[in-house]
Amino acid sequence: MNIQELDKEYVAGTYARYPVTITAGKGSLVTDIDGKDYIDMTSGIAVTSFGACDDVWYKAICEQAAKIQHMSNLFYTEPCAKLAEMLCKRTGMRKVFFSNSGAEANECAVKVARKYAADTKGPDYNTVITLKNSFHGRTITMLSATGQDHYHELFRPLTPGFVHAEANNLEYLKVLADAHKTAAIMIECIQGEGGVVPLDQEYVKGVAEFAHENDIALIVDEVQTGNGRSGKLYSYMNYGITPDIVSTAKGLAGGLPLGATLLGEKVKDTLKAGDHGSTFGGNPVACAGAVSILGRIDDELMAGVRRKSEFLFGAFTGAEGIEAVTGMGLMMGLKTTKPAKDVVNDCIANGVLCLTAKDRVRLLPALNIPDDLLAKAAEVIKSCAKN
Ligand SMILES: *Cc1c(COP(=O)(O)O)cnc(C)c1O
Repeated sequence: MNIQELDKEYVAGTYARYPVTITAGKGSLVTDIDGKDYIDMTSGIAVTSFGACDDVWYKAICEQAAKIQHMSNLFYTEPCAKLAEMLCKRTGMRKVFFSNSGAEANECAVKVARKYAADTKGPDYNTVITLKNSFHGRTITMLSATGQDHYHELFRPLTPGFVHAEANNLEYLKVLADAHKTAAIMIECIQGEGGVVPLDQEYVKGVAEFAHENDIALIVDEVQTGNGRSGKLYSYMNYGITPDIVSTAKGLAGGLPLGATLLGEKVKDTLKAGDHGSTFGGNPVACAGAVSILGRIDDELMAGVRRKSEFLFGAFTGAEGIEAVTGMGLMMGLKTTKPAKDVVNDCIANGVLCLTAKDRVRLLPALNIPDDLLAKAAEVIKSCAKN
């Protein structure tokens, strides 16, 4: 059997994979088993922040793996402590809990918010308000948090305690918060899986003000939008707000599994020894990778992300077969006249890997994708979107 047949036979069929087997990559180019090169406009769904096998990242993780690859969280290790310091100094948040994925980072965020509310207002203050069209992960509880019914249907009963508010409607959110004993409001500033839809500036500001006035924890899910993707370190920084809790994962460790839940002043000591944990969370190799990534998400890189973003907006706006361009930084959604899936299949046949998000073509290239590759990819995508 070839790889694709083997996979179909033995790997659970939860992914509608494209018929491409990737064997290697360097930067923003990846190669398939037949030796065909592709420009990668996906970076593993916003994961490989500096592309495939980036030299600095590779050196950092190899050096750490040669020292020690894992220790239990009952002992101290250097990469974990250093990464937590970096995250706090760069954001103004105060403490970090490390896990392995976005869903887990969000689970921790909800645990912290519920415990804080129980400590300050009482245990019945446990409702978490999230938004319709949101995505927060695949665990049963994060499915409940996710405001899209089609993720729920097959897996009831869901975890209670989540209600979904219409995005960009502050009055509706206030009504919901009054109707329930609310512990937290959780938002993505740019709804990624929901079709790459940024929330309105005024709305996000209003939500943050309302949450702070009522001592409701504001959780921002930066799993996809974080770590430089939006043109700032975290997407909330484009909105001038200060969350109480920030969750992130995907791009943080540049291609190794790592989740982080950043805790602000108010909730920094809410969790005590024994309240939460993770066997792999804070793994030294993953954290060493993240230190090497985070250290290079600087003003110069962010200016590059914003410039590349403007280039893409310019290239796609008004192009034949492209009806709308949404997103921020290097997180972009294209509403195409043709079905998004057909456009993506065409792009792949023509050597450009893209994704979909709902009815959109979704682009998530590496933050340092070279300008010439970006221009080439944009030409291919435009010609595939044409009728
Ligand atoms: C991908 C994603 C998640 C889930 O992350 P996993 O690492 O797959 O658990 C949660 N929230 C958002 C916004 C995401 O994009």
